Amino acid sequence: MPTPLTDRKPLSAPQKALRKLGLLRPVDMALHLPMRYEDETQLVKLADSRDGDTVQIEAVVKSCQVVFKPRRQLQAVVDDGTDTCTLRFFNFYPNMQKALEVGRQVRLRGEVRGGFMGRTMMHPTVQAAGGSLATALTPVYPSTAELPQAYIRKAVLGGLALALRSHAFDETIPTQHLPPHSWGLAQSLQFLHHPAPHVSLAQLEDHTHPAWQRLKAEELLAQQLSQLQSKRERQLLNAPALAHSHEPQGVLAQLHALLPFQLTQAQQRVVKEISQDVARAVPMHRLLQGDVGSGKTVVAALAAAQCIDAGWQCALMAPTEILAEQHFTKLVGWLAPVLAPLGLQVAWLTGSQKKKERDAMLAVVASGQAALVVGTHAVIQDKVQFKRLGLAIIDEQHRFGVAQRLALRQKLSDEPTNPVDDNHSHDAHAGKPREPHLLMMSATPIPRTLAMSYYADLDVSTIDELPPGRTPIVTKLVADTRRDEIIERIRVQLQERRQIYWVCPLIEESEALDLRNATDTHQALCEALPGVMVGLLHSRMPQAEKKAVMSLFVQGQMGVLVSTTVIEVGVDVPNASLMVIEHAERFGLSQLHQLRGRVGRGAAASACVLLYSLGEHGRLSDTARARLKAMSDTNDGFEIARRDLEIRGPGEFLGSRQSGAAMLRFADLSVDTELLAWAQRLAPTMLDAYPDLAQRHVQRWLGAKSDFLKA
Ligand code: ADP
Ligand code: MG
Repeated sequence: MPTPLTDRKPLSAPQKALRKLGLLRPVDMALHLPMRYEDETQLVKLADSRDGDTVQIEAVVKSCQVVFKPRRQLQAVVDDGTDTCTLRFFNFYPNMQKALEVGRQVRLRGEVRGGFMGRTMMHPTVQAAGGSLATALTPVYPSTAELPQAYIRKAVLGGLALALRSHAFDETIPTQHLPPHSWGLAQSLQFLHHPAPHVSLAQLEDHTHPAWQRLKAEELLAQQLSQLQSKRERQLLNAPALAHSHEPQGVLAQLHALLPFQLTQAQQRVVKEISQDVARAVPMHRLLQGDVGSGKTVVAALAAAQCIDAGWQCALMAPTEILAEQHFTKLVGWLAPVLAPLGLQVAWLTGSQKKKERDAMLAVVASGQAALVVGTHAVIQDKVQFKRLGLAIIDEQHRFGVAQRLALRQKLSDEPTNPVDDNHSHDAHAGKPREPHLLMMSATPIPRTLAMSYYADLDVSTIDELPPGRTPIVTKLVADTRRDEIIERIRVQLQERRQIYWVCPLIEESEALDLRNATDTHQALCEALPGVMVGLLHSRMPQAEKKAVMSLFVQGQMGVLVSTTVIEVGVDVPNASLMVIEHAERFGLSQLHQLRGRVGRGAAASACVLLYSLGEHGRLSDTARARLKAMSDTNDGFEIARRDLEIRGPGEFLGSRQSGAAMLRFADLSVDTELLAWAQRLAPTMLDAYPDLAQRHVQRWLGAKSDFLKA
C-alpha cells in the first residue's frame, strides 16, 4: 500500500546509496548481478592454502596485541593445527580484541599471503567457530562505500524474491525463439544470485555460463526492440520524395559530367543507396561512413544535386568553420557554375559572419534562392528559415549533439512559412508531420557490432574503398629525443616541394601550456628551417587570422603548418605528404587515425611520424602503447575502430548517442556477436507477431532508465 506523503520517513544513508545506484524497483534489484563470488561452503587447512588464495579457516587464537610498528595495528596469531597465521588489522574496534581473545576458536575468511615472516591475513572477517557453512557461493555485488555487502545482498535478494513473486520475470520470449539450450529467465536469475556450490567459478566470472548468456540475450533483444520501434515510428513520418532526375540539363547530370575523376565502386554503391532512399516519401536517417580520404564529400554533393533537381533546398553542416569553408569552396567549385544559369546559389552561414552579410544570406535562404546552404551550427539557429528544406547533411556527425540534430529535423516540420506542396497534397502521407531527409557522415568507422546495436535505428552506407592511385601511408614511431632526424626529413620533403603538418596535442589541464608547446615548436621549426614559411594555427586565434593561415597552406606557399587543435585540421591538401604528431601518446586512437588521414591524399608517398615521449615515469602506459602499436600495424580505419573498441569500450564511440540509448550492462559487443545477431533477427518477429510481449520486454529492461531520469 502506498505510504501517504506526510508519513514518509527520510531515507537512510544506505537507502540513498541504493537509489544512487539506480536500484529503485524490485526488478532493478534483481538485475543487479554479482560481480564475483566467494566460496564460504567449505573450510580449508592453512597448510593446503597457497599464496593469494581467498580461504575460510577455523583456528585457535594464540596471541593478540596492539603493536605500533610500523603503525598502530592489531596483530594476532592463530593456529589451525597444520600451520600458524598472523592476522593484521589497521582499523579495529575494541570488540575485535574481544573476539580475538587468546584461546578462542574463530572462523576467519580472507586472502592468505605467504610472506617472508610466515603466513599472514590482512583484515580477515572474524566469526566464532562452529557455525553452519554456506550451502551456495556467496555473491559479491557492485556497491559503494555507504552500502555494506550485507545490506545490499539483503536488498537484492529481497528484490529478487518480490520480483519473482509478482511475475516480473515471466518469460517474454516465446520458447521456440530462444537461442538453443537457453536457460529460463527466472531460473538464470536465481542461479546467478544463489549459484550451486560446485559450479565453475571461472564460467561464472567470465560470463560464459548459460545463466549469464540468457541475461545478455534478454538485454540485447531489448535494445534491438527499442531501436526497431523508433525506426518504425519514423516510417510513419512524411518527407519530400526527392526523385532522381535523368534530365541531361539537371544539376545532377551536369555535376557528374564535371567531376574530374571516376567514382569508385564503393562510392557508386553508396550514391545509389542514398539516391533510392531520398526518393521515398519517408525521412531517411542514414549514416555514411568511410575512412578519412575515402571521398565522402562528392557523395554528399551528388545527394545535394538530386535534392536541388527535385526543387528542394539542401543544408550541409560541418563542426568547425574551417571545415565548413572547405566544403563550401569545394561545393561552390562544383555546383556554382551549374546553379547560376538556373538562378540559384550557394549560401554560407557561420557564427563569425558580419551582420550585414549574414542578413543577406538569411534572405536568400528564406526566399529559396539558395539551393544549397553550407555552414557551421549557425545553420540551425532559430533565425534561419528555409523555404523548402529537403535534405540535411551533417559532416563529422559525432561532433554534433542530439539536440542539434533534432533542431535540423524541425527546420522543415515546424516552418510556418513552409509552402503547402500542391503536388503532394494527394499523397498518402498528407497530414503527417514532415521532416527533411538526414544524411550523417562520419570518418570514424563504427565497428560492425556497434552499428548493429547502438546504431540499429539508422541505415548505414559504407565506403570501404579508397580512390585509386593512393600510396599507403608509412607510419613510424619515433622517440621525442630524435627530433633532429625528423627535421632533417622535413627538409628533404620541402626540397621536393611537399608540405608538412606538425600537430601538437591539446593539453586539457592548461590552455596556456598547450599554446606554449605549439609556439615553442613553431619557433624551433622557424629557426631550423630558414627561408621556409612555417605557419601556426591554434584555437584562440581570431577567425580571420586562422583563415589567412589556412589559405596560405592550401595554396601551397606555406611549407609547414604547426597546429594545436585537431579540430582545425579537417582539411584536404593533397600536396601534404608528411604528418608529424607530437606527444602522440596523448591522443586517442581514432584521433590519430584521423590526423594521419590528412596526408596520403595525393599520389606522393606519404608518411606519418608519431613522436612519443616517455614522460616522468620513463615508460608509456599500456593503453598508449596499444594505441601506438595499432597505428603502426594498420592503415585500415575499420581495423583501427575495432581495436579502439577493445581498448576503450563502446562509450567513447557513442558520444552524444550514449545519452539516448541505454548502455549495455551485461553484453559485451566484442564477444557476444552471435547473441547480437540472434537479437537482430528476432526483433522484427517480436514486434509483428508478439507486440504485447515485446512491449513488456522493453519496459522491463529499459523502464528503469526512464524512471531514473524522471526522479
Ligand atoms: P573524406 O571522405 O575524408 O571526406 P574527401 O571527400 O575529402 O574525403 O576526399 C578526399 C580526396 O579524394 C579529395 O581530394 C577528393 O576530391 C578526392 N576524391 C574523392 N573521390 C575520388 C575518386 N573517386 N577518385 C579520385 N579522387 C577522389
Ligand atoms: Mg570529409
